[in-house]
Amino acid sequence: MLPRREVGRRRFFRFLRWTIGPDRDREPVHLFFCEGEDEDGARCGADSGEQADAGAAREWTFTHLRDHQDHRSYGQLTYVPLVMVPEEEPS
Ligand SMILES: [Zn+2]
Repeated sequence: MLPRREVGRRRFFRFLRWTIGPDRDREPVHLFFCEGEDEDGARCGADSGEQADAGAAREWTFTHLRDHQDHRSYGQLTYVPLVMVPEEEPS
């Protein structure tokens, strides 16, 4: 039996063990973006757009480099959907 702790006057919070992990029902999203600068020092800021396919998003960097060979700094953002799962469902 897991311990119980009184919270407030009428509500009880039951301690549960939780884990966090990937939510398989939702897709990750990948975005690559250019951090290169134009000759005037302005940040380029071009990006791949949000893509479910990481390889396609990465491929955008090579396409961008082909047209802007002095833009060699890039960043990558990846959204990973997560879900919290209790060891057992609260009753
Ligand atoms: Zn660029």
